[in-house]
Amino acid sequence: MEITLNSLEHFCFCRYQWWLLYSENEWLSNVHTTLGDIVHSRVDIPSFVEKRKNVLVKRSVPIYSNNLNLYGIADLVEYIKQDNKISKINVVEYKKGKPQENGSVQVYDGLQLYAQMCCLREIHKCEVRGFIYYASIKRRVELKDEEFFNDLLTKTLAEMHQYIKNQNIPPKNISKQCKSCSMYEICLPNLEKKNA
Ligand code: SF4
Repeated sequence: MEITLNSLEHFCFCRYQWWLLYSENEWLSNVHTTLGDIVHSRVDIPSFVEKRKNVLVKRSVPIYSNNLNLYGIADLVEYIKQDNKISKINVVEYKKGKPQENGSVQVYDGLQLYAQMCCLREIHKCEVRGFIYYASIKRRVELKDEEFFNDLLTKTLAEMHQYIKNQNIPPKNISKQCKSCSMYEICLPNLEKKNA
């Protein structure tokens, strides 16, 4: 079964939230999802195409990987041409937050971005670099540790396929992050704690 690129981040945030979204078709917005939507609305222009010398820039680009059974949309893709052929690609994902304290991309952001890089490498068979544009610092941060993200993507996809195949409901990840979760009112994690 195919998995969407944006579901990777939901799965890592909380397996139960991912289940509510993709199996139960539940969705609620909160201030965090609305801020994310605002950041994305600036780049979410499917018809946008711009030429800058030897660089072609496209927004909201549909991408896929047959090898990984993944598909979704990349926010912004820069195709760098040489001798009329695509020689390099930059893919940029827009996020409202900020990088880690050491300056690296946040792990969940990096996972989604790395999966996009795999899709573009499979489609175009050329060098692909990935960046997160963090709105709070207004600049791009490049994804560096590809080996780490490759391992994480392999393990994450294997676990997701296991849940899908067995139709098991994943456990709730009840923690401080529940306060920022848009599914709080459906999940009611506090009620579960009290019952326990
Ligand atoms: S409220 Fe907490 S446990 Fe429930 S879906 Fe959200 S993150 Fe997961």
